Amino acid sequence: MKIDLTELELLHLIEIDFEESRFPYLIPLKPGGYRSGDIEAMSSYICRHAELSMEWSHIYGQRLLDNFVTTQKLPACKKNSAEVLRLCNSVGVVADRYIEAVTVASNGKLNGQFLTLHPLRFLCDNNARGLQKQHMVWCPECWREDRISGESPYVRLYWLVESTVICVVHGHRLSEYCPACGEVKLQFPKFPRQWVCDKCAEDLSKPDENHIKDNFTEEDAWVSHAIYRLIERIYSDELVLNEFIVSKAIQRLLQWSRLSHLELCHKLNIEPKSLENMLDTKRRPYFLAFLDLCYRLDLPPDQFLLDKDILTSKELWRGLPKPTFTSKINLTEKEIKSIRSQLKKILNENPTPPVRLSHLAAKFGITYTRLQYNFPDEYRELRKRWTQWEKIFRRNNHAARLEGLTIAVLSLVKHGIYPSERKLRDLELVLPSDLRREDVKCLLKAFQEIYSDLQFN
Ligand SMILES: [Zn+2]
Ligand SMILES: [Zn+2]
Repeated sequence: MKIDLTELELLHLIEIDFEESRFPYLIPLKPGGYRSGDIEAMSSYICRHAELSMEWSHIYGQRLLDNFVTTQKLPACKKNSAEVLRLCNSVGVVADRYIEAVTVASNGKLNGQFLTLHPLRFLCDNNARGLQKQHMVWCPECWREDRISGESPYVRLYWLVESTVICVVHGHRLSEYCPACGEVKLQFPKFPRQWVCDKCAEDLSKPDENHIKDNFTEEDAWVSHAIYRLIERIYSDELVLNEFIVSKAIQRLLQWSRLSHLELCHKLNIEPKSLENMLDTKRRPYFLAFLDLCYRLDLPPDQFLLDKDILTSKELWRGLPKPTFTSKINLTEKEIKSIRSQLKKILNENPTPPVRLSHLAAKFGITYTRLQYNFPDEYRELRKRWTQWEKIFRRNNHAARLEGLTIAVLSLVKHGIYPSERKLRDLELVLPSDLRREDVKCLLKAFQEIYSDLQFN
């Protein structure tokens, strides 16, 4: 179906030549926060297009790729999970395809790479470890403000960087779990409306009373602001960083401080190997180690990389304990012991319905991924119990729905009333949402055929 573009007046538009033959592949929709630190993520941009085109976001994305990406660059297998597709926001081959599609489809008016983390690729290793989060996070207040300003709520790219913990506009911890069902949210969901929960359809922009907004450390806040400023600086001027950028910045620092690299490592309490890796232009730095270095120097990465002057002073340097980057995913022994005993208790009690893993992760104050990584056996068992229970629950629910419909139809025809959809709804005999279900529709249609043959009116 085609959309009447005159109805899109409320949206912020940019000048993209519009070709009827290409319709509806790229609508001239301006990315949220264009050329600012609030720049929209690629997945979000695709989702908003899909919503306007009334398509599923993955299908829309695939059509965009099919139309605008050179065939050799397309994958042989087109069935990708949301888990793989979320990489369209990162660096790498999936992102490259989406970048090309958006850039070509907009006739070069939009540079697709500035909707992804691709411009930061020389700040991280080839696998982009520690760069992008697994799941979506969001700030409900930012989304409410988007709506007030007439835009559909969109996902900021900086939210999706692994180390971002807070929304820098509102200074609150970003939300990770649906307030109604506790489920995590996919970064590139199939259903394009990003501000609803994929599981229970709750509006995620509503205030969440259980969300602890000030649950973050000083370091979390520093790093979140640093990432925001880095993105703001690079993306607003569309700067291109080269592979020497980190190494050059460190050399400048060594010159200015008149320290050898070993002395610097000693002062900052970091492993010489870690700094040597960053100095070696043949190797790419580890993103979290680079951010940690900036934090120890109290020097925001945008200034460290892009300013010629060194805007830090040695008195402000932080000689913190040696960094352990695995701590992002690993837990301390004490935490492991305590969580394991609680998991054991839950497994023994075997409650019905089983406890959801995302609820558990929230209860322990860790991420879903950390739970899976640290307790693989318990995770597998709990997941199995949940899916089994859910399967039975769905089957029973299905039977109950059809039974309900049959009773409702019979109660109408007993009084000589034709079982129309409207009657069923007006008498509140069947839920309107159930009437939209395929199984209910089929059964109702069968009943209606029988009763119209019997001359009900
Ligand atoms: Zn916010
Ligand atoms: Zn939910």
